[in-house]
Amino acid sequence: ELRPEHPEEFIFRSKLPDIYIPNHLPLHSFCFENISEFHNRPCIINGSTGKVYSYEDVELISRRVASGLNRLGIQKGDVIMLLVQNSPEFVFSFLGTSYRGAISTTANPFNTPAEIAKQAAASHTKLVVTQAAYVEKLKDMAGVRVVTVDDHVDGLLHFSELMGADEGAMPAVKIAPDDIVALPYSSGTTGLPKGVMLTHRGLVTSISQQVDGDNPNLYFHKEDVIVCVLPLFHVYSLCSVMLCSLRVGAAILIMQKFEIRTLLELVQKYKVTIAPFVPPIVLALAKNADVDRYDLSSIRMMKSGAAPIAKELEDNIRAKLPNAILGQGYGMTEAGPVITMCLGLAKDPFKVKSGACGTVVRNAEMKIVDPETGLSLPRNKPGEICIRGEQLMKGYLNDPEATERTIDKEGWLHTGDVGYIDEDDELFIVDRLKELIKYKGFQVAPAELEAILVAHPNIHDAAVVAMKDEIAGEIPVAFVVRSNDSQISEDEIKQYISKQVVFYKRIGKVLFTDSIPKAPSGKILRKELRLRLAA
Ligand code: AMP
Repeated sequence: ELRPEHPEEFIFRSKLPDIYIPNHLPLHSFCFENISEFHNRPCIINGSTGKVYSYEDVELISRRVASGLNRLGIQKGDVIMLLVQNSPEFVFSFLGTSYRGAISTTANPFNTPAEIAKQAAASHTKLVVTQAAYVEKLKDMAGVRVVTVDDHVDGLLHFSELMGADEGAMPAVKIAPDDIVALPYSSGTTGLPKGVMLTHRGLVTSISQQVDGDNPNLYFHKEDVIVCVLPLFHVYSLCSVMLCSLRVGAAILIMQKFEIRTLLELVQKYKVTIAPFVPPIVLALAKNADVDRYDLSSIRMMKSGAAPIAKELEDNIRAKLPNAILGQGYGMTEAGPVITMCLGLAKDPFKVKSGACGTVVRNAEMKIVDPETGLSLPRNKPGEICIRGEQLMKGYLNDPEATERTIDKEGWLHTGDVGYIDEDDELFIVDRLKELIKYKGFQVAPAELEAILVAHPNIHDAAVVAMKDEIAGEIPVAFVVRSNDSQISEDEIKQYISKQVVFYKRIGKVLFTDSIPKAPSGKILRKELRLRLAA
C-alpha cells in the first residue's frame, strides 16, 4: 500500500477498520469490563476435576489473591514468578498480581534449578507461586518466598492463605498504562533470554486487536468453549487464549498438559468450539487413529501458531474437520504478541490458504523490509517482517541496547522473520534471519547452549543451529571444536547439556569440526553451518 506522506514506503494495514481501544485501562479492568453481561457464566473449567468457576468467582478470587499478596508485603512493581502448570491457580495468580499492580514473570516448571534461579535473579523475583513437586528446584534460592498451589509444604505458604484474604483490605492501587504487568522471557532475534516488558497498555491493545469490534465469524464470544492446553507460561496461551477469553466471557477449559486421548475426550464432553494449538498437536491429531472415534464437530475454529506448520498437514486436518476453520496466527513475545491472524472471513474453511499466517491485526502497521537496503518492499517480495503499534513490548528489562536493536527509532519492531504479503494481504513466512530455534514452538536460544558448551574444559569452541524434524519442527544440533588432545564424545556432550537445561533444549546431534566459521566481527556464520547440515 502506498502511503502518500511516505511515497517510498509500502505499509500494510488490516482489511478491518481501526477500532477504539480503551488502553488507558489496567489489564484486569479491561478483561472484566463487560463482566455484568456474563457474571454467572462459566469462566474456568478445570479439565482434571470438572470444577467450574464462574466469572464472578474468578474476579473475586483474583481480588482476594491481590489482597493476600499485599498482606505478604508485595508492593506495586514487585515481580512474582509463576512456576505452575496450567491450572485455575495460574489464572488467579496472574490476575491477582495484576490487581496488585505487580508483575508476573512466567517460567516453564520443567526448567532446571539453574534456569529458574537465573530468571529469578535477573527479574528480581520476590515470590514464587509453584506446585509442591517443584519446591525442590527452588531450595538454593535465598530470600525468595514460596507459595504452593496444591499440597501444603512444611514451612512454606499455601495458596489458600492468599485466596482467603479480605478483598476489601487492600488499599487502592494506581496503575498507569505503561506499567509492566507481565515479564515473559525470550531471546528475541539474538543472544540470551531476556525479560520482555509487557505493559497494561500493550496487552490491552493486543487483546482488543484480537477480539474486539465486529467480526462475528472469527472472534471468540461468550458462548465459546476454548480449550487451554498450550502452556500458560508462554505468551501465546497467556494472551491469545486466557486473556482474550476473559475479555469476551468465554469458558476456558484448562488442561494441565497435553495428552491426546484426554484432549479428545474433553473436546467431545464440553463441546469445545475453539481449539488453539501448535503444529505438533495438529500433527498428533492428523496422525492419531482414535480421532475418528470422537465427535469433534463442535470445533468451529482451530488455530495453529508459534511455529511454521507444513502445508500438507494443514490440508490433511482441514479434510478431517470440514466444519472448522483452520487458521494460522503469527506472533512473537516482543510484539505483544500477535502480529497476524486468520480473519476467518471465508465461510468455506478450504478457502483459507494453506501456508498463510493471516493478515496484520487492526490498529497496527506492517512492512516488509529488504535486509540489505533497509527499504520496504511491495507485495510478493520476501523480506524482514516489521510491525508497529501500541501492542509492542516496552523493551527488554535492563537491556536498552537489545531493545534498540529490536525496535528502531520510528517504532518498528524487527522480527527477524522473513516473509511476503500476497494480493489478498495474507502473510507467508518463508525463512528466519534470527538465530532462534523452535522445538515444538518452544524457544531454544543457541547462545545459551553455546555458552554452556564452551564452559566445558574439553570444548574449545561451539555453535548451535537448527536441524529440521518432522515432529518437533526443529531440533538443536551442535558443531563442536574439541580442546587440544580431548577425546570428548557425542554422548558425553549430550549428557553434559541435558543435566543443565530443560528437555526441549537438549542437543539432538553433535558434529565435530576443526573450526567454527565466523565473520571478522566474531559473529558465527550460522547459514554456512546450516548448509553443512543439509549437505
Ligand atoms: P515466541 O516469542 O516464542 O512466540 O516466538 C516467536 C517466533 O516464533 C516468531 O518470530 C517466528 O519465528 C515463530 N513463529 C510464530 N508463529 C509462527 C507461524 N505461524 N509460522 C511460522 N513461524 C512462527
